[in-house]
Amino acid sequence: MIIPTHYKDKKVAVLGLGRSGRSVAQSLLKAGAHVLAWDDQEGAREAARNQGIPLTNLHSLEWGDIHHLILSPGIPHHYPAPHPVVALAQIAGLRPLSDMEILCQSQPQARYIGITGTNGKSTTTTLIGHILKESGASVEMGGNLGIPVMELNPLKEKETYVLEVSSYQLEISPNLHFDVGILLNITPDHLERHGGMDGYIAAKKLIYRNATSQDILIISVDDLPCLTIYEALKASEKVKLLPISTCKVLSEGIYVREGILYEKSSPVLNLKNFARLKGQHNWQNVAAAYAALRSMGLEAETISQGIASFPGLPHRQQEVARYKNVTFVNDSKATNAEATAKAFACYQDSTLYCLLGGRPKEGGITSLKPYFSAIEHAFLYGEAASSFLLTLDGEVPCTICETLKEATEKAAKLAFADQKQDAVVLLSPACASFDQFADFEERGEAFCQYAQEAIACSH
Ligand code: ADP
Repeated sequence: MIIPTHYKDKKVAVLGLGRSGRSVAQSLLKAGAHVLAWDDQEGAREAARNQGIPLTNLHSLEWGDIHHLILSPGIPHHYPAPHPVVALAQIAGLRPLSDMEILCQSQPQARYIGITGTNGKSTTTTLIGHILKESGASVEMGGNLGIPVMELNPLKEKETYVLEVSSYQLEISPNLHFDVGILLNITPDHLERHGGMDGYIAAKKLIYRNATSQDILIISVDDLPCLTIYEALKASEKVKLLPISTCKVLSEGIYVREGILYEKSSPVLNLKNFARLKGQHNWQNVAAAYAALRSMGLEAETISQGIASFPGLPHRQQEVARYKNVTFVNDSKATNAEATAKAFACYQDSTLYCLLGGRPKEGGITSLKPYFSAIEHAFLYGEAASSFLLTLDGEVPCTICETLKEATEKAAKLAFADQKQDAVVLLSPACASFDQFADFEERGEAFCQYAQEAIACSH
């Protein structure tokens, strides 16, 4: 745990008591700060109470003598409107801060790698952490994924924090400094929290706000917002740049062409060998990780070994079971059609039995039309079933199901009966999970269990 001793005797308000909010409150208490913690949800307050965190209703606080407000990144501080508590703190002249800001204040001696982008953050963060660990380096990994940063261990000089950083966290971490920053991609997302696309791009640019000419920014040049940032930075020489691409040949930098990764125009890795990082989107993540680690002095061979032993992340095109001709793939993290398209692209040569459904997003699955011909049979379940049936009707054989359990059973039964080579039962639902599950993790775990049950039934 990080103990931010410089907060001793400070009055610190903590708003948002999810796992990261509770751990920041605990760290501050251990440091001897006077903590005033609050969450609008009774469930979160209860969890805090159980951990001995003192609660204070921040809505009715006198803010005059409060030194800091630590804010959970999920709570709006600007758009669409500041949370009422944040508004009160702002009137008192306080700027909300993140737990990451406290980490970097407390551990200035360590080295920091920060990963941001619209998609691929968790994969790239975990991959870099894994390769560094395998190489024998001391590394701590967390942030927007996994372990809240205040629960990480303190590090010495030259030891490395690998942090996944969302646009929300960047906005409330004014002094966060990355020795190596990574900007993977920018496509429209969370626009309501940033007041539109310009605000979202501005937030992502904060990844290098404290960069010096000693630091390095790994940046994709494949989408227009990132390319524009790259061009502007190149002219300014503010930070060292290392561009990456999966669709362009780069004379400087790292690029991937037909699955081969090139460094300074020399082929160095065949990415098709890495089954847990399938698809062009993952090649972007690998290119970013490779670029970051090469810039830190790791040998290409060490990086290659680390990629080869990467176990992959759960719920992201994760092979969870295989029996006879059928592989079960859990891509529960695909909560929209854009993410499902990435999975379809990877399994185009397989016989696909797709499980689609849950709570649909705007636009449904119409954007997946180019992949319809590759689907052997679709099993539609949950709130989206009837609207998805309308979209697929006539083009893809469909079965309507009540639940994911029923959909998995029926898909497995058909896939075993058809006995087609390389059959894949794919859960890549293109929907939120909330109609039947607490979150995408619970949905993915349920699918793994149903897959095992279907295999047991087929014996
Ligand atoms: P994040 O942490 O940014 O949400 P993840 O690494 O968890 O990203 O990946 C989530 C989903 O996003 C994956 O299942 C895949 O569909 C898609 N994805 C992953 N990497 C990329 C990328 N580099 N570009 C576009 N989409 C990606």
